[in-house]
Amino acid sequence: MPTYNRADLAFERGEGAWLWTTDGRRFLDFGSGIATTSVGHAHPHLVKTIQEQAAQVMHVSNLYRVPQAERLAARLVESSFADSVFFCNSGAEANEGMMKAVRKYHAENGHPEKFGFLCFEGAFHGRTLATLAATGNPKYLAGFGPVVEGYRHLPFGNMNAVRDAIDGSTAAIMIEPIQGEGGVRPADLRFLQELRAVCDEYGILLALDEVQTGMGRSGKLWAHQWAGIEPDVMSSAKGIGGGFPLGAILAKEKVAKHLVPGTHGTTYGGNPLACAAGNAVLDVVLAPGFLDNVDRVARHLWRGLQDLAARNPEVASGVRGAGLLVGLQLVPAVSNAEMQAAAVEEGLLTVAAGQNVLRLAPPLIITEAEADEALARLERAAQRMAATLKAPAK
Ligand SMILES: *Cc1c(COP(=O)(O)O)cnc(C)c1O
Repeated sequence: MPTYNRADLAFERGEGAWLWTTDGRRFLDFGSGIATTSVGHAHPHLVKTIQEQAAQVMHVSNLYRVPQAERLAARLVESSFADSVFFCNSGAEANEGMMKAVRKYHAENGHPEKFGFLCFEGAFHGRTLATLAATGNPKYLAGFGPVVEGYRHLPFGNMNAVRDAIDGSTAAIMIEPIQGEGGVRPADLRFLQELRAVCDEYGILLALDEVQTGMGRSGKLWAHQWAGIEPDVMSSAKGIGGGFPLGAILAKEKVAKHLVPGTHGTTYGGNPLACAAGNAVLDVVLAPGFLDNVDRVARHLWRGLQDLAARNPEVASGVRGAGLLVGLQLVPAVSNAEMQAAAVEEGLLTVAAGQNVLRLAPPLIITEAEADEALARLERAAQRMAATLKAPAK
């Protein structure tokens, strides 16, 4: 179907942060397939684990125990706020399940009238009917009505608007700790702390979408840890499978305990192959010093980007995000699509995001030397853009 605007690039091989096209060109991948190939391309441990698991057993269904899923769930519980995990196949599916879990919690507590979600402008939660409603972007909703009921959108970061919007139908506040698609916009840590407090005050749930920000992307395993808070329920996907499709809902016991047999399910979700991949990614990300290194390389990249923006004010005006989810804010005269294309000319892959931001989300395994290489290529791309701006108008 004509769903995508694809670039005319086809890759046949990858290694770490590098990709090679079928015609032999080499690219530095600072997009990671949209923040997904968290441990880089062809990571030996991930490849070996998937190969070995595929040769053993790939899929059995959730009619049976899945030891790989039990192990992955136990490890995710061990390294998060959660007591329980449900596995699925994508970010949208994780959010659908998370929203079902929220509604079930209130229904089982005698409050089926609490079904509404407070979401935020600039959010992205997926492309299914309900996650589209949670996303709320009129461009994405056009033609797919009627919009699923129960979603309101508030200005991102505005605590007064949140307090005003809470009523007897509110079930949860749903937010990305850093808006990814919306333009790499981090929520103020104070705002996240106040959301936690207001949820406790009114007996509503805090539902975090960490599909893009989780699994070390921000420099901590989960981005909400920077705020020192815990959600009641959280979705994860993208980076947790390292490129193999895997999603997860993580929840506190008070939420999870209501999803009894018959309430939710999936055929593929949490199969032996996907969970083996998830365990292999965790082996890498939880290795001693790994996240410290992400934080160190991220700070190095940030300093470089800030310098780049300062040197190229006719192209870029600032840097935002957290860890290795970084947005280069472009000036209005330079579109992120043009800048992305200029970076491709320099052999650097990036991803556009909302608010005219160029998003950098390299694999978490990059070195400082690779960050420097990306900065050099981005600088040349910025100069390319600046030169076209100075060219006389045709
Ligand atoms: C990508 C993304 C999703 C949707 O994930 P899919 O796997 O594409 O369904 C949901 N929420 C956030 C924050 C995302 O970045």
